[in-house]
Amino acid sequence: MNPNDMPYWWEAIDRSPDTPPDLASEYDAVVVGAGLTGSSAARTLAQNGASVLLLDAEQPGFGASTRNGGMVGEGHRVPLDQMAARYGMDTAKALLREIYVEPLGFAKKLIAEENIDCDFHTHGRFRGQWNQAEYDATARSLDELRAIAPLNVEMVPKQRQRDEVGTDFYTGGLLLHDHGGLHPGKYLSGLVTAAKRAGATVGGHTRVNGVTPAGSGFTVEADRGPVRAGAVLMATNGYTRPAFGWLKRRIIPVTSFVIATEELDPGTIDSIMPGRRMVVETRSRHCYYRLSPDHKRFVLGGRAALSEVSQAKATAVLRKLMVQIFPQLKSARITHSWRGNTGFTFSFLPHLGQQDGVWHAMGFSGSGNGMAPYLGHKAALNMLGLQGKETSFTKTTLETRSWYRGTPWFLPFVHALYRGIDVKENLKHGK
Ligand SMILES: Cc1cc2nc3c(=O)[nH]c(=O)nc-3n(C[C@H](O)[C@H](O)[C@H](O)COP(=O)(O)OP(=O)(O)OC[C@H]3O[C@@H](n4cnc5c(N)ncnc54)[C@H](O)[C@@H]3O)c2cc1C
Repeated sequence: MNPNDMPYWWEAIDRSPDTPPDLASEYDAVVVGAGLTGSSAARTLAQNGASVLLLDAEQPGFGASTRNGGMVGEGHRVPLDQMAARYGMDTAKALLREIYVEPLGFAKKLIAEENIDCDFHTHGRFRGQWNQAEYDATARSLDELRAIAPLNVEMVPKQRQRDEVGTDFYTGGLLLHDHGGLHPGKYLSGLVTAAKRAGATVGGHTRVNGVTPAGSGFTVEADRGPVRAGAVLMATNGYTRPAFGWLKRRIIPVTSFVIATEELDPGTIDSIMPGRRMVVETRSRHCYYRLSPDHKRFVLGGRAALSEVSQAKATAVLRKLMVQIFPQLKSARITHSWRGNTGFTFSFLPHLGQQDGVWHAMGFSGSGNGMAPYLGHKAALNMLGLQGKETSFTKTTLETRSWYRGTPWFLPFVHALYRGIDVKENLKHGK
């Protein structure tokens, strides 16, 4: 990896390869994948007295968990009526209530309990609305949502938009006051440390090639030798490998790209991000951006492409999007540019379940700083059969399609479709 292609977040954390520990021959539980989901599950399992082995094919935190935008607080991509059509109205409402309340609350508690120094704040999130029709629809939906979940939100009309974000690019927005941001590298490192402190053994650079039933438990085929496990959790999300075909056919790896600028002068920072909010947008291109925790750099992520592109090409695309929103950043130098895999499901909702006795918690579909550790925790409680294990995400479904064998050949077409939608919307709204 070119040093400039490394996530900005990796500069602040120790990434020197750790020596994999000696592995015992048997554990109560083995967790595959040491991102936010797996580390949180390992912590809860160990806290409840289980012997736990947490394995990652790479350095713990190699996946999306240390590459993401660092925004915390969940939303939903699926409208209530679509959720209700799929799962029934009661489950749909329970899902929405859980989405809006639990993951953010869990993340806050986790950070406080484990004293994780990860620049966490709740400066709020501004969701820029792409056009007036979307603004009106969002405003109308708030009453319905408020009847389901306690929401601390307000609509910001276009006249007040510049108090939040220094652009006229949006038609106003939705301000989610309780949402916030953190440093993803420090967050994940703190969580892995917490899992170790609770008693979990953490083995990086140890790939799992298969899990097979053995007696009352499983044999985990790690590339450093087989390990027996009473229970197994797959927490590999967008990095799920072909060896796990059943999951691979249900999780679509979608790459998201991120850039960070050089340090900018305070006047420029004030002009682009006066409210210091986390910002997302509703257009299909879906850029998200924020300031670095020290408020010196601008960090922007988005869908540069849905097919394989060079990092240089992705950087150029994101830079263009950045200047489109903030022309004043025209001469800002990009110092970091990286990518990571999100894991989408066909239902756009995560899932906690079991297949052939092996647990899985994944499918976060583009968010996860709150949801991934929350669902990892719930997975652990389910594996141990403990009180508090209930979650509506056992009721979502992990579907596949006959035409999806694990290689997302259709993503370039989706990208073209999204670009078409954006161009059409731009023309319609004179952008
Ligand atoms: C660029 C980007 C920006 C994002 N921005 C945000 C954001 O701002 N806010 C937000 O809430 N969410 C965001 N997300 C989503 C969020 O990062 C993820 O949902 C979350 O990190 C998923 O965590 P995880 O532990 O399930 O998976 P990951 O962190 O991806 O971890 C999976 C791990 O499994 C390991 N693995 C895979 N196969 C094996 C195997 N066979 N054996 C051993 N190990 C294996 C991998 O090496 C990897 O480390 C973003 C994601 C990306 C990519």
